[in-house]
Amino acid sequence: MKAAVWKKKKVLELEDVPEQEVGPEDVKIKVEYTSICGSDPHIVDGKLPVSYPPRIMGHEMSGTIVELGERANTKGFKVGDRVTGNPVRYCGVCDYCRNGLEHYCLKLAEYFPPGTMAESVVWHEQQVFKLPDSISFEEGCLTEPVSVCLRGIELSDIKEGSSVAILGLGGIGQILLQLAQLSGASQVMVADPVESKRKIALEMGADLALDPLVEDMWATTMKVTGNRGFDTVIEASGNTDSAKTAIDMVGKVGTMVYFAVYPMNLELPIKPFDLYSRELTVRGVFMSPYLFPRSIAILPKLKLRPLVSKIYPLDEVVEAFEEQKRGQNIKILIKCSEG
Ligand SMILES: [Zn+2]
Ligand SMILES: [Zn+2]
Repeated sequence: MKAAVWKKKKVLELEDVPEQEVGPEDVKIKVEYTSICGSDPHIVDGKLPVSYPPRIMGHEMSGTIVELGERANTKGFKVGDRVTGNPVRYCGVCDYCRNGLEHYCLKLAEYFPPGTMAESVVWHEQQVFKLPDSISFEEGCLTEPVSVCLRGIELSDIKEGSSVAILGLGGIGQILLQLAQLSGASQVMVADPVESKRKIALEMGADLALDPLVEDMWATTMKVTGNRGFDTVIEASGNTDSAKTAIDMVGKVGTMVYFAVYPMNLELPIKPFDLYSRELTVRGVFMSPYLFPRSIAILPKLKLRPLVSKIYPLDEVVEAFEEQKRGQNIKILIKCSEG
């Protein structure tokens, strides 16, 4: 089968690889769509040491079940079911898994599942979830980023009536915008240098969309919040300047969420006196423990199709990665099956 293989640092190639074997608890899925995550080019460029080449890239996926192992019978799956999945497999046994923190499972590396930028993928039944009939494959492909955004919302302290700023309008920023509104935020300001991304965010109901390269973010923050600052600021651009200035936009007893992959050696000038006098909370978001069922449940409440900017066939996956790096698109999808 065809697959997008990360060969070595900075090298991604379309290759013919053997199909994976289906173990007794496994599900084989014909991949319909897989989407490029903001983290994928970082992985290929060797800036994110979470896995190592050679391996098939991709972790956001929708597809159709084509084969079931004889013991993959817990969730009632049938061949032909439309599904999505959690790219991470957990042991379910270690202390982290038993304490609601499966994303820190001690066996993550041992269970590292194959990637989804391929014509098919074999995952453990634990990782696979049925898609609602009303959700298209294009939308269902975005379940994984939705799950991580739900984790971000859980950690962001947004309450009914909260004021929120979201910096960066890639897939994560756009999904966070919609989830913040569903969580009761009364005012959501967003920022991104790309005009088309701001336009979509305004169509999704953002109250104000700024170009951070043109506008003074702090002055605008003070103006629109009556000099109080935002209750929650979520930095989802990964831009180092934005990471430095975002915390000044947070109001007293507010929450600052860093929700991107930053350079590993980046240091931020945080003043402990500021944390003390403003009672700030500063958080990061890593992955999404136990959130796939809720992500699937919330899919029909989200507008995901407008977030798909471009679709490439699997044959053009290398070009799709180049396009992703140009930063003009919200989500780029790869169509992995014919027809
Ligand atoms: Zn992702
Ligand atoms: Zn575990």
